[in-house]
Amino acid sequence: MTIITLESYHTTLKGIYLVTGQGVTSNVYVFSGETITIVDSGNGAVENRIIPQLKEIFSKIPNVSKTILTHFHFDHIGGLAELMESYVLDILIQREEVPFLRDINPMRIKEINAGGKIVVGEYLFDIIHTPGHSPGSVCLYEKNTKCLISGDTVFPNGSFGRSDFPFGNHEDLLQSLKRLTEIDVKMMLPGHGLPTFSAVNQQIKLSFMTAKSYF
Ligand SMILES: [Zn+2]
Repeated sequence: MTIITLESYHTTLKGIYLVTGQGVTSNVYVFSGETITIVDSGNGAVENRIIPQLKEIFSKIPNVSKTILTHFHFDHIGGLAELMESYVLDILIQREEVPFLRDINPMRIKEINAGGKIVVGEYLFDIIHTPGHSPGSVCLYEKNTKCLISGDTVFPNGSFGRSDFPFGNHEDLLQSLKRLTEIDVKMMLPGHGLPTFSAVNQQIKLSFMTAKSYF
């Protein structure tokens, strides 16, 4: 696994770390604060264990209080088991995804609501419901930095999430991508691959146009 300090990309992104893994696994974004918030948790494979990475980042094992999941796919939620062994953790996920979290203690699951806001580390993000890749996929958007955590809905360079998985829907994905073209994004932190910081609005537009041409 590799740890990337996002401040090295952009000075406004303080206290945010990207942990990348091996194989089919999501990016894990670590937000520091009084307690740690983690966005997506990877696939849970031994080589992608998160806690050793946290120890590396903070030079001790910090307290993790919540995990926000952009959607329910295994490569984003597999790491929850490791975290739940060590922490009493709130798991925040959009309502439509809850039925898919079968092996997780329902007491720990807290629904988040599109249109609302959510504290992530030192930041306050808007929750944007972006169905299509999955019914309850969300993107998180922070107005001051214009930073978008885009899950598997949109990726850099005109890519976008697959809509042909079970419960995916291409028409919904198109609507979601269109919606993302309507906000001003300066930085994209995707669910897979490296973040991007240049001409992000144009990249999202390209994703929308390309997805449209798939019909
Ligand atoms: Zn996915």
